[in-house]
Parts: sequence; structure tokens; C-alpha cells
Amino acid sequence: MSHFSQLGLSQSTCAVLEELGFEQPTPIQQKAIPMLLENNPTDFIGLAQTGTGKTAAFGLPLVDTIDEKNPVTQALVMAPTRELSQQTAQQLVNFSKSRKGLNVEVVYGGADISRQIKALKRPTQIVVATPGRLLDLIKRKAVSLKNVRYVVLDEADEMLNMGFKDDIDEILSHTLEDRVTWLFSATMPKEIRRLVDTYMKAPLEVSVNTEQKSNKDISHQYVVTKTTHKLLAIKRFLDIQPDMKGIMFCRTKMDTQEIADELSKLGYAVEALHGDLSQRQRDTVMKRFKSRSMQLLIATDVAARGIDVNDLSHVFHHKLPDQLESYTHRSGRTGRAGNKGISMAFINPREDRRIKEIERRVNVKFEKITVPSVEELKVSRINNWASLILNTKVDEQSESILNSLHGQFADLTKEDLLKRLITTQLDHLMIQEDEEIDLNEGDGRGRKDKRESSSSSRTKDGNNRYFINVGLMDGVTDADLKHFLSDVTGIGRKHFSDLSIQKNCSFFNIESKHDDDLSKHFEYIEVEGRPIRVNRDEEGRPSKRKAHYKGNTRSRGGSRSNHSANPATRRNRGRRR
Ligand code: AMP
Repeated sequence: MSHFSQLGLSQSTCAVLEELGFEQPTPIQQKAIPMLLENNPTDFIGLAQTGTGKTAAFGLPLVDTIDEKNPVTQALVMAPTRELSQQTAQQLVNFSKSRKGLNVEVVYGGADISRQIKALKRPTQIVVATPGRLLDLIKRKAVSLKNVRYVVLDEADEMLNMGFKDDIDEILSHTLEDRVTWLFSATMPKEIRRLVDTYMKAPLEVSVNTEQKSNKDISHQYVVTKTTHKLLAIKRFLDIQPDMKGIMFCRTKMDTQEIADELSKLGYAVEALHGDLSQRQRDTVMKRFKSRSMQLLIATDVAARGIDVNDLSHVFHHKLPDQLESYTHRSGRTGRAGNKGISMAFINPREDRRIKEIERRVNVKFEKITVPSVEELKVSRINNWASLILNTKVDEQSESILNSLHGQFADLTKEDLLKRLITTQLDHLMIQEDEEIDLNEGDGRGRKDKRESSSSSRTKDGNNRYFINVGLMDGVTDADLKHFLSDVTGIGRKHFSDLSIQKNCSFFNIESKHDDDLSKHFEYIEVEGRPIRVNRDEEGRPSKRKAHYKGNTRSRGGSRSNHSANPATRRNRGRRR
């Protein structure tokens, strides 16, 4: 069994790791750390997926190598998304606890840039950044990379997928000629090889677990339905499979409680588990869940940690988690101990991209399934009722009740009696008016299609048209707006087109393959205290440009932005070595 202290890390870093509960290095750490700690550092390629411990694989050598007494920026870590860069920075902060004077700063799009500029004025030895925002900060001279000796390209394949190739080229042109580059990627497509050939010299290469073993006992499924129909859709799945037992994951405590309340009001055996419950309440919920008197536990990711139940048939994702790792943790609750399990995600029509991302990066294959139809629901209710009757153990009291009926049903045939019994159950067995909805979206059926054709936000070329409440009054140009959209969403600028900037608002197209729920990226974004709203343009406005304005951009926080798309700013980009 290998230990961190055998990999060449300093004693103080090993002590921090012990404190963090890292007992044993993961395979990528075992292989990468000694190489990256070499006195004569070399370029390095690590083929590893999220969840393999790759952050510590490069983070620990970085922390042990950086000179904390020198206040200049010596290392740059680039990551594709805000979430990943935040997590990475947090891990680096944790690892560097024993190194007083070593500061890590994280910068990403969609947050107040003036605050980031201020933060970067402090000595910052390690900068973790998303490419778009970093470029912006370089142009504003808020960060200098001229002393950067270590560059980490984390999830490089994802950065290229997101269209950051040009940004990376330009950023690297600002770093030292003799820097070392450490590239981590889950896959090694041609574009990454090209990046390696351009920027790296005789890199050492380590590969671990690239074909992450997926649990063959779990079937991954997804259902496309409107957000407002999710609960109805979930109900249908519970109705047609009364024997199922599972966990439904929600993103917030509030969602968790509200959905549990709503479903239990309707008579489903469900309960909520989240951080606002006392320990005693949680224990009680868990006891009931384990005893099978509950069909569905509705929980947040945090609360569900450590739940150890082996016989779950289903995991539902009321919403997909932000972090890919959480998807693996969630779905791993089913398909245990040799049992088969289903992991089912409920997504809205714009979250298709997330499914593809999970498929690519978590190495699972999804099957799209439809919400059970009204007809299926009817058949299943009747069958369930029949099997309930067939499986009912006759109670002793029934004998005396039958006797006291004094043969009142004697003249009825068996069929007549059954028909009358069914009639008494009609309310339960038949479909109510409010249930008669086609809950499936995006499968080209029924009412939904008609609605789409009359009020579609999809343009003729298959793009989707969006509205944003930023316009000429905010001083934006086409290029600024593209930069801003790309920064916040993490989608490359080239995927935004046909911008129409108007007085108070703008419209733009996004290729439908990138059409995630764009609005969610802007939930916490403000421009000068005004919340930013981004919606699908349901009125299907024309995509012809109506106005064009060349002016200064004021981005979030009101500071002037320099999101220039001017090719001249790119002249420094190029091959090194
Ligand atoms: P990563 O693949 O870098 O995103 O790491 C996934 C998770 O594993 C993070 O929460 C790390 O803190 C944790 N982790 C990484 N290496 C170890 C280790 N050797 N022992 C325990 N936890 C680890």
C-alpha cells in the first residue's frame, strides 16, 4: 500500500492531507505526483476523468513547488466551467493550508469583475480561471502571466468542446517561453493532440481508468417534460410501478420539502430528507425508509450521503446535479448487490445538452423514455387493483360481515357483483380530467407540436432565439454581448449568432445543440444592481439585425469592459517552441 509520504511530498503537505482525511493516493496521484515533483519539471499529460483525484494529482506538486515568498503569479490553472474552477481553487486552498503566504485566487465569468480585479491586486501565486474571463482580465491588465512557470489545462477536452481554443492560444502567448504545461483530459481526440504538439515538449503521459467502469446493473434513462409537468410525470411512474422503491434527488431543501408534501397529500408513501430536519427526525425518516413502509425518499444530495440501502429499484433526478460526480453518486444508490436498477432523470426540453455531457464524461449511455400514457396508466391501475384483490389475505372479520349480509347478494351473478364493485372504484380506477395530458415534450406528438408551430422560438435554421434584458442603454456591442454570453454560459462565442441589439434589450440565436437552459446561468448575474434575465423569445422575433452600436461595454459591476473581438488583439497568439 503506497502512502503520500512516499511520493516525495513535503512533510507539512502530508500532514495537511492527513487532516483532510486523504489516507491513500489514488492511481493518478501515485503516478503523477512523483513525476510532477521532479527537480527538472517536464510537460505532462494525465488522461483521467472527474472523480479520479486528478485535482490533487497536480495540486499537491503545485503547492509544494510554488515559492510563497515571491508574490508574483507563478501558476495558472485553466478549467472549462465556473463550478469546476471554484472546486479546484477550493481544493488548492485546502492543500496549501500549511503554506502561509501562498494565495490562490479564482476568476470566472458571470461574477462581478471589479471584485476579481481588486482581489488580484493582492499577492496571488496561483490563479484558477475560466478562459474567457481570464482573457478579459489580461486585457484589462488586472493579471500578469509573465512569471507563470506552471500552466495546468484541466479538462482540456471540455475546454475545446466549449470553443475555448482561441482563448487558450491567446492566454498561453502571455506566459513564459520555458513554462511547463500539465494537461488533464478525459479523452484524447485529435484536437487535443494538436494542442499537445503545439504547446508541449516531450510530455510524460499517464493514463488511468479512462474507461471508467460503469455499473452494468444500472439502466440510465431520461424523460423530457416541461418543468411544470414534472410532478405529474413522476406520479405516473409511481402509479404504474407501485412496487418500486427509490430515492428522488432534488437540488434544494425547499424543492425537497415541497415535492414531498405535495405527493404525500395525494396519498403517496413518500418523505423528505434534508438538512433542515433535526438528527432525530432524520433517523426516524431513515428507519421508515429501510422498513419498506415508504415508496420514495425525497432528498438533497447532501442529506442522502451515507445512506446505505441495497434494494432500491429506482433513483429519480428531479433535476440533474450541477456536478458530474454527483450524478455518479446519485445513480450508484441503485443497482447494488447484484440487483438491477434504474436511474431516471427528468429534464426539460432545453437540458438535452446535459445528458450528452454526462454520457460523454461519465461514460454511461442514456435511453430516452416516454412518460406512461393515459391508456397505460388506466391499464396499470386496473391490474394493480386486481392483483391487490388476488393477493389480499382474507380477514377473519370478513366472515361475520358476510353472515350479517343475510345473502343480500345471492341473486347477483359473479360478473354482476364484480361490475358493481368496479363501479364503486371508478374514481380511483378511471383517469381524471386533469390527468389527461400528454406529458412528453420534444417527441413531436400531440398538442405540444401545434403550440410549437404557432409560437416557436426556433429559427428556420434550427437555432433557438433568446431574449436578454441588456441593450444599447448598457453600451454593448455585438462582440461585447457575445463575450458576456460566452463568459456566463461557458459556451464558445462562435455558437452565438444573429445578435439584434435594441434599446433596452437584445436578441440572439444559439445553436440548438447548445441549447441548455440558458436562463439558469444568469440566475445570479446583475448589471449595476439590475438582475439579468434571459428567456427563450417565445414571440419568435425575426433574426435580422435591427440596430448596431459601437460603444463601450459596461459589464456587471459597471466597470468598462474591453471584450473586443478585434483580430489585432490576437496577434500575439501562436506557437511556442
Ligand atoms: P477530483 O477527481 O480531483 O475532482 O477529486 C474527486 C474527489 O475526491 C474530491 O472531493 C477530492 O477531495 C477527493 N479525493 C481526491 N484524492 C483523494 C484521496 N487520495 N483520498 C481521499 N479523497 C480524495
